[in-house]
Amino acid sequence: MVVRESQRPGTKRSRAMEGLQRSRTMEGTSPRSRSEGPPQRVDANIALIGAEDVGKSALTVRFLTRRFIGEYGDIESIHSHCDMIDGREICFNIWDSVCPQNEGIADHNITKQLQWADGFILVYSICDRSSFSVVEQQVRRLRGQARTRGGPGATPPIIIVGNKRDLRHRRTVSSEEGRLLALTADCGFFEISAAENYHGVLLAFHGLLELIRETRALKKSPAGIKGIVRSVSAVFGRRRNDAKDAQV
Ligand code: GDP
Ligand code: MG
Repeated sequence: MVVRESQRPGTKRSRAMEGLQRSRTMEGTSPRSRSEGPPQRVDANIALIGAEDVGKSALTVRFLTRRFIGEYGDIESIHSHCDMIDGREICFNIWDSVCPQNEGIADHNITKQLQWADGFILVYSICDRSSFSVVEQQVRRLRGQARTRGGPGATPPIIIVGNKRDLRHRRTVSSEEGRLLALTADCGFFEISAAENYHGVLLAFHGLLELIRETRALKKSPAGIKGIVRSVSAVFGRRRNDAKDAQV
């Protein structure tokens, strides 16, 4: 069962995001682009997957509320939360999944998640080696299914997160292994602690949002170029006809 919940702007976290918005606006947006056109709403569907107990719910709750509450139960849920970032309304829909019990269910779930998600966060715990193997399998599964459905490059962007960094004294997966997996599988990588702080969690979600926006822009670009070619040839075609008319 998937439970739906939603949060609107105006929460404590929303104020924090506005702070982020201010600093990012100062760093990255020119005055011209800020004044252009009405603000658009951007929706991003993000699925969190990984083994049991790696902290998927902790990361979700930390991102949405800034809090770490310790125990989360094992309810699968989709949370919706909207914020203003860089003058745009960004709506995150976050599917906090539960780990499937067997391979058949895992395949079925990935199919559903691929249909729904714009991007994935694959979570393992740095002190649980088997959870790292689960992420390796999940990357293969995602890439495999996406390739079958839509050809190479059809997988939505993926961020790999090594969680529970505060427990580094019990580490069984090195940072290098995590980074190498991400590099070879063409994914983003963060090693963070949902328990320790909010900032790393924020970076991971926003890193994925950036990738989702880049992917959308890339998908749009061939049509964009065709559109430019069409209008350029319309202009030059008209000029040629005008010239012919003038000669008659
Ligand atoms: P899920 O099954 O992947 O959703 O895992 P949960 O979010 O329910 O977390 C499982 C357990 O790990 C809970 O007891 C959490 O308090 C704990 N946990 C989650 N993130 C961290 C973390 O960053 N550090 C530590 N020490 N514990 C964490
Ligand atoms: Mg959970």
